[in-house]
Amino acid sequence: MSSPWQHVLSTQPRIAGFLDRLAGDPPRSLLLEGGTMEERLALALFWAARLMCRESSPPCGQCRICLQIADDACRDLFLLNGAEGSISIDTVREVRAVLGDPPAGQGPRVVILAEAQALGDGAANALLKSLEEPRPGNVFALLAPSREILLPTLVSRSFVLTLGWPRGGEDDPGLQEWLQALAEFIQSGRGVWLEWTGRKGNVDARRADAILREVQRALVQAGYGNPATALARLLASRLDVVAVRQVGVIVENALESLDAGANPAVVLEWAAIRMWNLLHK
Ligand SMILES: [Zn+2]
Repeated sequence: MSSPWQHVLSTQPRIAGFLDRLAGDPPRSLLLEGGTMEERLALALFWAARLMCRESSPPCGQCRICLQIADDACRDLFLLNGAEGSISIDTVREVRAVLGDPPAGQGPRVVILAEAQALGDGAANALLKSLEEPRPGNVFALLAPSREILLPTLVSRSFVLTLGWPRGGEDDPGLQEWLQALAEFIQSGRGVWLEWTGRKGNVDARRADAILREVQRALVQAGYGNPATALARLLASRLDVVAVRQVGVIVENALESLDAGANPAVVLEWAAIRMWNLLHK
């Protein structure tokens, strides 16, 4: 059986190499943004195994510890996955309760918060307390599509690594037309956007997902002050930090609706109108 992080070592080699070097002096809190949800989780498991595996070139992927981490059966690994529902304050408190005890094994205890945007404000604040308390032996890994949709205080206490974005988009003229239409609509309220999303069979879930992920990518670029696409330049020029985060939440909600099987055209129309409202309030 191959490790769950095997594939991501080839798709995100730069980040994997960076984590390997970082393991000598691991930051208390690591934030992985960008890439895909699967890649972020795979890299977080790689990170946990890199810190805990005792073999000569960790993570070996074969030893008892590596296998336990791969199965989420390791006593020193806490995996809270926001992709499976919101992360409650009670869950965070349960984890906090054990952080004062030393880890069971020789490595650190690793707490992974996957899709950490699923933390409610109460849960995020409880987590923040843990990040601020200097308890040795505990290492946190936060995973999110982009830092803009997390509580800024969580981000500021974390070492941030940005995964490469999935390829695609640049070589898809259809997608570029949709993005142009979206940019025009949220800027002026005009153009073909509402006409396109008004035809209910006009866009499938895959295309809608690609459009929303391009908006996420534009938000990250806007947040960095390094906008490369027309959409990112528009967002950077019109939105402050708080509004960038709000757009991030709109996009997250839209992606969730798509996942839940909502009509893609309706989801896009709704998300664009909310973005328009934010830009023009
Ligand atoms: Zn190992």
